[in-house]
Amino acid sequence: MTSPTPIYDTLQRPFRDLRISVTDRCNFRCTYCMPAEVFGERFHFLPKSALLSFEEITRLTRIFLSFGARKVRLTGGEPLLRHEIEKLVAMLAALPGLDDLAMTTNGYLLPKKAAALRDAGLTRLTISLDSLDNDVFRRMNGGRANVEDVLTGIRAAEEAGFAPLKINTVVQRGVNDHTIVELARYFRQRGHIVRFIEYMDAGTLNAWRMEDVVPAKEIVARIDAEMPLEPLQPNYAGEVARRYRYRDGGGEIGIIASVTQPFCGGCTRLRLSAEGELYTCLFATQGTPLRDAMRAGADDGQLAEMIRTVWQARADRYSELRAQATPEQKRGKVEMYHIGG
Ligand code: SAM
Ligand code: SF4
Ligand code: SF4
Repeated sequence: MTSPTPIYDTLQRPFRDLRISVTDRCNFRCTYCMPAEVFGERFHFLPKSALLSFEEITRLTRIFLSFGARKVRLTGGEPLLRHEIEKLVAMLAALPGLDDLAMTTNGYLLPKKAAALRDAGLTRLTISLDSLDNDVFRRMNGGRANVEDVLTGIRAAEEAGFAPLKINTVVQRGVNDHTIVELARYFRQRGHIVRFIEYMDAGTLNAWRMEDVVPAKEIVARIDAEMPLEPLQPNYAGEVARRYRYRDGGGEIGIIASVTQPFCGGCTRLRLSAEGELYTCLFATQGTPLRDAMRAGADDGQLAEMIRTVWQARADRYSELRAQATPEQKRGKVEMYHIGG
């Protein structure tokens, strides 16, 4: 591979990592992401023909790598619902220059898939679990799964060799915040890293209110009161999660404070939706249709030029400007299940 050509946006941020949503479908109905009232039986998900094929995703990823991307994360919707996802993993893992190929999943299908993903070359797994209290968890996932289902998935991931895992936990005031210390304790004992995520105003469907956010400081204080914590240095510049370790030496947690301590200054990410739209921000209102260009016959050079132009024009810093967002901006935001968080 020729050496990559770094690209910088208008705020001098380099492009470094790519999230690929492989499906807009999900087997859960988390109230903060795909509320069941909206995503009912009659909801029209994308037809298969609209989704990027594995060949199209691989072709685009090769081009993204030529701009210096090193990390790729597969997400969704629920990525394990995409038929034969392990084949895509194998195709991406074979690309020269890709050091880190990760996936975020709700874990439900891991008993069937964990070993195949590992064999195909997936390097890391993040599994979402919002509470160990079954009633709380079911309320949050729209009644689609029990805690035990996800714990079984976690065990399958451990057995397949993915440990240590990252566990994503969205914290909502009055919903699951009373269960976070228990969750932290449980995963600490098992050697996994919980990342507590401030509930975000992603998309337009979750009726987000600032009062529902538990600020990062409060999350840390609640855990620290029971299991003392101390801050850790970031693993690398621009790391999204702030890291803390338990003072007695056993394990660490991460906090993703997207609302109260935004990190747009270090945001080096592009997002590719399941139907091949390229987004420069989690809160973007518009994407760039790479699939349409590809299917109209664009060659690799033309696709590379589109990607370069999109990145070089990028000025997004929604979380830093949240308070000033206009009603149009708020109304037009892309949904989280569409671009994968
Ligand atoms: N279905 C997979 C899962 O849940 O892990 C992958 C896609 S999901 C959109 C990716 C991550 O975004 C999950 O960890 C989920 O909890 C998080 N997420 C979704 N909506 C969110 C919101 N409004 N605020 C904060 N995190 C959110
Ligand atoms: Fe599905 Fe993940 Fe969204 Fe929950 S957060 S509805 S599991 S895509
Ligand atoms: Fe990046 Fe947009 Fe999130 Fe800021 S709000 S960190 S620019 S995705």
